[in-house]
Amino acid sequence: MIIVTRPDATDEQIDRIRERVEAVGVRTHLSRGEHHTVIGCVGDEEPLAELPFLSMPGVETVHRVMKPYKLAAREFAAEPTRIRLGDSLIGGQEFTVIAGPCSIEGWEMLSSTAAVVQEAGGAALRGGAFKPRTSPYSFRGLGMEGLELLARIREEAGIPVVTEVMDTRHVEAVAEHADVLQIGARNMQNFSLLSEVGRIHRPVLLKRGMSSTIKDLLLAAEYIMQQGNMEVILCERGIRTFETATRNTFDLSAIPVLKRETHLPVFADPTHAGGIRELVAPLGYAAVAAGADGLIVETHPDPAAALSDGDQALTFGDFRKFMAGLVPFAEAAGRVGPQSKKAGASSHSSAA
Ligand code: PEP
Ligand code: MN
Repeated sequence: MIIVTRPDATDEQIDRIRERVEAVGVRTHLSRGEHHTVIGCVGDEEPLAELPFLSMPGVETVHRVMKPYKLAAREFAAEPTRIRLGDSLIGGQEFTVIAGPCSIEGWEMLSSTAAVVQEAGGAALRGGAFKPRTSPYSFRGLGMEGLELLARIREEAGIPVVTEVMDTRHVEAVAEHADVLQIGARNMQNFSLLSEVGRIHRPVLLKRGMSSTIKDLLLAAEYIMQQGNMEVILCERGIRTFETATRNTFDLSAIPVLKRETHLPVFADPTHAGGIRELVAPLGYAAVAAGADGLIVETHPDPAAALSDGDQALTFGDFRKFMAGLVPFAEAAGRVGPQSKKAGASSHSSAA
C-alpha cells in the first residue's frame, strides 16, 4: 500500500501516519517529492485494510500496489531516483556513460583507458577485477590486484570506478575500492549476494540475467532495496534467444517497460548485447532513443590483444567517435549528452 500525503502535510502529520502503519507491524519507506511525500508500506498489508487512513490529517490518497515488487515500483517514489556518481547525477538530465575494458589487465592499459574515458565525457571507468567466465580456463581477472589498480586510478585521475562483485566474501573489499558495485548477468539471482550488497552504502549496477524476465530483474532489485540500499541502477544487456548472429538479443523494449515500472535509473549495455564492435553504436543510440538514462560500454587500447571480450571492445578512436555521435541522440531524447573534455582539464572527483 502507498499513502500519498497532501502538499501541505506537516512532518508531524507524516510521523503520525507512519506510527499508525508501524504499530501493526508493517514497515514504512518515505519518499519526499517536490509536491507530495509518498509513504510506502512494506510487509503483510492485511492489518492495514481496516485502518481509516483517508480520514487522517495530511492524507490525500491511498493505493494498493498490486505488483510483486514494492520498493522498486514506480508508485513507491515521489520522484525518479537519482544517484550521485562523482560529478554526474545518474537518472537526471544528463545522459551518463560508464566505460572501460572488460578486464583490468594491468596499470598501463587501465590508466590510458581512464584518460580516454574522462576526456570523452565518460562519468566513470569500469573494469573487471573478478570476471565471470564461461570456461574456468579463460582469464578470470586479476582479483585483489585489479581492485588495487582501480583504487589507484580513482585516486590519481579523480574518476569514479565501477567493478563487478561475484562473491559475498568480497563485497566489503570491493565496496572499499569502487564507487559502484556491478552484479553481473550470471549473478542476478544470487540472492545471498543481492542481500549482501543491499547492506552496504554504495550504488549497485544490476545487470539483467540472460534468461530473466523484466519482472525477475525488478524482483532482484527488490532484494537489494529490502536490505536498505535504495541506490540500484538496472541494466538491460541482452537476453538469450534462438538468434545466433549476435551474442545476445538486445531487448530494447525492456527500457521503456522498466521506465514505466520503476523509479530506478535504467542503463543499457550495447557491448554485451551485440557482442560485436560494429553493433555498439547502433544499439547504444537506440537505447538513448528508447529512454535509457545511461550506457556501459567496453573500450580497450588494443582490442586484438584483450584478455577478454576483445571482439566487442571499441578502439579508443571508435570510442571517441561513439561518444561524439551520442550527443545529438541524447539531445533528441531531451537529455544533455556527454561533453568531451580536454585531456587533463577534467573536474571529475571521486565519489565519497
Ligand atoms: C561484463 O560486464 O563484463 C559482463 C561480464 O557482463 P554480463 O554480466 O552482462 O555478461
Ligand atoms: Mn565483458
